[in-house]
Formats: sequence, C-alpha cells, structure tokens
Amino acid sequence: MRIGIGHDTHRLEPGGPLRLGGVEIPHDRHAVGHSDADVLLHAVVDALLGAAALGDIGQMFPDTDPANRDRDSAEMVHAARDAIAAVGLRVVNIDCIVHAQRPRLLAHRQMIRTRIADMLHIEPECVGLKGKTAEGLGPVGQQEAIVAQCVCLLDER
Ligand code: MG
Repeated sequence: MRIGIGHDTHRLEPGGPLRLGGVEIPHDRHAVGHSDADVLLHAVVDALLGAAALGDIGQMFPDTDPANRDRDSAEMVHAARDAIAAVGLRVVNIDCIVHAQRPRLLAHRQMIRTRIADMLHIEPECVGLKGKTAEGLGPVGQQEAIVAQCVCLLDER
C-alpha cells in the first residue's frame, strides 16, 4: 500500500460560481487559476501522483502550456488515475479538507463526493470530505483564498 498527500491554494475574486470538486457551486466568488482553478481536484491529483511517486500536477499539466488554459480539472484527475493504473496501482480511499470561510460545504458535500468517486472509479463511501472555516482569520478567513488538502491510499490492482 502507498499513501499520498496533496495540497493546493487558489486566490478568490468576486463573481461566481465557485468550481469545487468538479461541481459548480452558486457563490459570489470564484477561484482564479490557469485551468478551471478547482482547488479540491488539484489537491486530489497531487495526492494520487504523490502516493505513486509520479511527480506532481505541475509536471503533468504545466501552466506554461496554453493547452492547459481553462482545462477541466476532471481531465487531470482522470489522467492521474490512469497514470497510477499504468504502474499497477488503484485508489482505495481518499480524505479531503476544504478550507473556506464561505460557502458552507455541507449542502454540496454529497454531490461532490459522488462526482469525485465517479472520476476515481471508487464508491462515494470511499471519499471523505470535510469543510473548515478559518474563524475569519488570515487569507482564508478574509475570503481572499481557498485551500484544499487530500490524503489518499493506493494499493496494487
Ligand atoms: Mg491549483
């Protein structure tokens, strides 16, 4: 078995919706980035690649490559899943934290879990997802940034 960790941060700017976990969430801010800026999926990709020691999302999808502009991050998750499959590994489970002052994640949690599970070819019960505010402190608390973390467990196919 192999474990991996992923972490990502994106800047928030006025105007929604917020793309998170492959789902468009109604919100008054959106994340800014070269791709679709899905902070949660980026953390998932890095956790998968890290567990298999296959580098990171920046190597696989360089932000200097125009092909990656506005890219759907679900494609990145599919690519990471296929990369670990190519070396004989599969996802057992993942566990994620989204750090955001707003919006509250609870109303969207099931949809996001199902969406990510579909991308990884696992059951929603194998996708943990928690939301945390920052108690109003720092860039997350001031709604200037959104942060995501993910750990994953892989085993041999
Ligand atoms: Mg990112």
